[in-house]
Amino acid sequence: MKVYFVGAGPGNPELMTLLGHRLLSQCKICIYAGSLIPPEVIAVAPDDAELYDSAKMTLEEMETVFRKAQQEDVDLVRLHTGDPSIYGAIREQMNSLDRMQIEYAVVPGISSFQAAAATLKTELTAPEVTQTVILSRTSGRTPMPEKEDLQQLAKMRSTLCLFLSVHKIAEVAQELGRWYGDDCPIAVVFHASWPDEKVIRGTLQDIAAKVANEGIKKTAMIIVGQALSRDIPVSKLYHHAFTHGYRQGSAE
Ligand code: SAH
Repeated sequence: MKVYFVGAGPGNPELMTLLGHRLLSQCKICIYAGSLIPPEVIAVAPDDAELYDSAKMTLEEMETVFRKAQQEDVDLVRLHTGDPSIYGAIREQMNSLDRMQIEYAVVPGISSFQAAAATLKTELTAPEVTQTVILSRTSGRTPMPEKEDLQQLAKMRSTLCLFLSVHKIAEVAQELGRWYGDDCPIAVVFHASWPDEKVIRGTLQDIAAKVANEGIKKTAMIIVGQALSRDIPVSKLYHHAFTHGYRQGSAE
């Protein structure tokens, strides 16, 4: 038997990998992140699968379910939202599985920052502007390491994707304004790829009021940076004079 950590993607069941979908559709036991995975995704599991909502469980309770799957010799799907490698709290589960000598594998998923970029129809990197994307969050019950304080991240003025932070949008926008400028574009995508998805675009100056107006307090991605603008330099990759190993330039 094996435990599969499966990235469920951002919400739309069609945004799961084929492998993840197959494992979920065949599983006997599934532990899923109930607060973040919509019913349409859980519905992919067979009707008679045993389902456990991890939001209501401790690590010890998860270990009991892992042990049960081991005793019954059936595979278990551990369904995580987005991609399991980002704020997935999978390390402690893997430590438990190591101790229990249970094999496991990870199936990647589309992360919510990617789904949000798709919703926004944006490229997160921009030539001459930024070639760096930072994935981060603000502190909550999990404190931020001092060196990764929002101000430190902002100094680079790269594209910044903030998870788990929309409830602090006013504070975030104010702190970032000092480095990015108050007119810098910012977007908040609530429930990216869900049927009730909402997109709010603005500047660091006006975004907090717009988000408050919509009453968005959780499950949203914040993306900040000049890369959100269309009015910046574009890549030369497809320019006719730009030659590379796969294409010879046309004579000018
Ligand atoms: N592993 C996940 C992140 C889990 S942390 C991933 O790769 O996406 C939970 C945070 O992810 C939420 O607070 C929110 O910031 C973000 N998030 C998860 N699903 C989202 C969605 N569908 N739309 C927007 N943000 C989402």
